[in-house]
Amino acid sequence: MPNPLYDTLFGAHLGRDAVFLHLIDGTTLSYSDFLKQSAQIAHVLTGLGLQPGARVAAQVHKSPQALALFAACAQAGLVFLPLNTAYTTSELTYFIKDSGAALVVCDPSAVSALTPVADELGALVETLDAEGAGSLVTKAESAPDRFDTVERSADDLAAFLYTSGTTGRSKGAMLTQTNLLSNAATLAKEWRFTAQDVLLHALPIFHTHGLFVATNVTLIAGGSMIFMPRFDVDQVLSLMPRATTMMGVPTFYTRLLDDARFTRQSADHMRVFISGSAPLLAETHVQFEARTGQRILERYGMTETNMNTSNPYVGERRAGTVGFPLPGVELKVCDPASGETLPQGEVGVIEVRGANVFKGYWNMPEKTAEELRDNGFFITGDLGMIDADGYVSIVGRGKDLIISGGYNIYPKEIELVLDEQDGVLESAVIGVPHPDFGETVVGVLVPKQGKTPDTDAIMDAVKGPLARFKHPRRLVVVDSLPRNTMGKVQKNLLRDTYKDMFVSG
Ligand code: ATP
Ligand code: MG
Repeated sequence: MPNPLYDTLFGAHLGRDAVFLHLIDGTTLSYSDFLKQSAQIAHVLTGLGLQPGARVAAQVHKSPQALALFAACAQAGLVFLPLNTAYTTSELTYFIKDSGAALVVCDPSAVSALTPVADELGALVETLDAEGAGSLVTKAESAPDRFDTVERSADDLAAFLYTSGTTGRSKGAMLTQTNLLSNAATLAKEWRFTAQDVLLHALPIFHTHGLFVATNVTLIAGGSMIFMPRFDVDQVLSLMPRATTMMGVPTFYTRLLDDARFTRQSADHMRVFISGSAPLLAETHVQFEARTGQRILERYGMTETNMNTSNPYVGERRAGTVGFPLPGVELKVCDPASGETLPQGEVGVIEVRGANVFKGYWNMPEKTAEELRDNGFFITGDLGMIDADGYVSIVGRGKDLIISGGYNIYPKEIELVLDEQDGVLESAVIGVPHPDFGETVVGVLVPKQGKTPDTDAIMDAVKGPLARFKHPRRLVVVDSLPRNTMGKVQKNLLRDTYKDMFVSG
């Protein structure tokens, strides 16, 4: 039966002996064996009574079995709903209730806490681990290793993914087969992925980046992945010689650069290093190129749209930008108030349209209507601009915009100046409540190792490049910025910490 998602990503590889996963214990898993296991899991899932379109919520550790569960859901016409492994049981409870999952796959340690929630919803609870008695994997061992693919159309839901919750409560994004497939095909082509590629995969697989970018691009090209449980510099350095490409969040690259063992020689054979999920610091760009002679390729996307832009594979990878809109993605910069398209060079809200754009937020019709226009454009909430050559840059998030005394202030502009000051490794600029100005600018600085930034001197130094209304009213020095698992700076936490700086509680 036709099922574009399964057929394209998985079915195309049935019976192929080529390696799909290289595991860190030195073993490998072939496409053929991987697909046999996923077919067996599909039998167990349908045996549980799950009907096509049902949602399968999975908070599971990164493992080949977890990917097999994704493939099994695709083959059985189920909607895969991966959940961040960092979520606590009470957070999980929220997501399970919100999503209306029919099956919850979790760690054995969470079963007793989640069973009452699942019972209330009429959902089932299962575990996945290979050794666990009664887990999906163990039950699958005795199932047939071929499964008749359940028919689905390209418009059917394929996955349901919660946003990272950087700006507020996570929202459930409904993604269709077309959303995933169009993006995987475009990215594989743009980044020249082939069956010979070996991707160093150290990302989590509950997020767009690790699953719908890294994994799907590999699958569509028929390549393989070195599948690491997590990012670990020692492991990455020892496995890199066997890889051809790497995808990571900016912190992966800064951590590699912090290690003197990462040299030009470590990277010479690598075809491309790709970064996304959070802004890559200019300093990282420069250092990486100085160390390896290669430029990191930065791209930009989000849960709701998969990837929107990419720097070119061939041609200038322009630092500080996220490159050009991908083929098939229309991107414009709009006035936040009127929604009118702004001229090139002006900062506004980025809107995107294309086969990559999701179907809407689950259970949030108002939010969906607010952010997804009738003409198909999605209002990303990111602020950006397009330069004269067509490169897009992200200057921050709409929610981080500071409005002080009636002026619009883009934190990124101030951060770029602060980052260049003596002794400063990185910075985050936030708006905090102020009795006269509504909000005012505060700069949070992280020192370079062994350095103590002179905040008075920095206050003076920023006066040259920045207009008066953009001057930070105060600078604070901290050891590190709060980041979530994808390396995103959580400005809401910083704003909360300093909210009473100029007003009393
Ligand atoms: P939430 O929507 O719940 O607040 P989130 O937006 O962080 O969380 P994701 O969908 O995981 O959730 O992240 C997408 C966001 O990450 C983008 O909207 C953008 O702000 C940021 N981002 C991704 N890639 C880049 C990049 N290369 N440069 C700058 N920002 C990026
Ligand atoms: Mg978002």
